[in-house]
Amino acid sequence: MSKILTIGEILVEIVATKRGNGFREAVPLIGPFPSGAPAIFMDQAGKLGQDCAIISRVGDDDFGWVNIDRLKADGVDVSGIEVVPHGTTGSAFVRYREDGSRAFVFNIRHSACGTIELSDKTLALIDTCTHMHVMGTALYAPSVVKSILTAVERIKAAGGTISFDPNLRPEILDAPGMREALQVVLAKTDLFMPSGEELFLFAKASTEKDAVDELLAKGIKAIVVKRGAKGSSYFDGDNALHLPGYEVEEVDPTGAGDCFGATFVTFWLSGMHPADILRYANASGARAVTKAGPMEGASTRSELDALIQSQGNA
Ligand code: ATP
Ligand code: MG
Repeated sequence: MSKILTIGEILVEIVATKRGNGFREAVPLIGPFPSGAPAIFMDQAGKLGQDCAIISRVGDDDFGWVNIDRLKADGVDVSGIEVVPHGTTGSAFVRYREDGSRAFVFNIRHSACGTIELSDKTLALIDTCTHMHVMGTALYAPSVVKSILTAVERIKAAGGTISFDPNLRPEILDAPGMREALQVVLAKTDLFMPSGEELFLFAKASTEKDAVDELLAKGIKAIVVKRGAKGSSYFDGDNALHLPGYEVEEVDPTGAGDCFGATFVTFWLSGMHPADILRYANASGARAVTKAGPMEGASTRSELDALIQSQGNA
């Protein structure tokens, strides 16, 4: 049986209900929603019945417990989430601008999850896992980077596999050691999951086909490119597959990539054919955008089947 691990930020998201540019005025807010890209990913994997765990830290506060309770209820192994007695759980305030882009105020590096370090207990948890998913967003502090690289090495050395979603936001690209860590992770990656232009982060090529060939030649086994409402593509040595997105009403795009990724990895580990995996992952990303709140749109298998069947694509 496969078990997926991730390490990284757990936070709450608090969202402005009125569009506009940032937070230099008082605005009505809604939240807290459980969040953090690694947490959203694991919640989606858990909802699909996949054995999975997250290593992180939260404060002993309601923002921490709202996350632990949700992840546990959705089937995630939360034994690697440490509750830091005098810590504060991470948070992100988000406001959508008129053009649909997002303005953030983050408290991550200086929150409880900024202090993640491995212990004997979490090292033992790592050794029960067969697959590691690395989120680029999680490379935000040196001790977290070190923990992720340790887990990647251990899981890979034991014959496991690695997936990697660069998930880069400009706000975190300048974190100390981030760019170097990305290269180390890429060298160990089996399944690379960029969205759009992120495909070119680690390739010299200027066309998509050349970038894919260049990355596959580096030893990556498969590449999945996320394209928002347009759907996604899958490439490996033998296949180049493209599937359009499902038609849904977009309420909140946050979390689509994470739900897509978790669904893709879960079915990839089960040995399903890539075209079927891509269909399920597209359905998962599409359902994610129909709900307000980053983790609220995670789906069960039967919810994914229902969407696929309703659009005549089963
Ligand atoms: P995130 O903001 O969560 O990091 P991302 O950039 O990693 O997102 P996207 O490409 O936005 O990922 O979304 C992932 C997948 O979700 C897409 O490939 C698609 O299958 C699905 N998806 C996203 N937005 C929509 C939409 N508006 N309609 C239908 N499907 C969508
Ligand atoms: Mg993303």
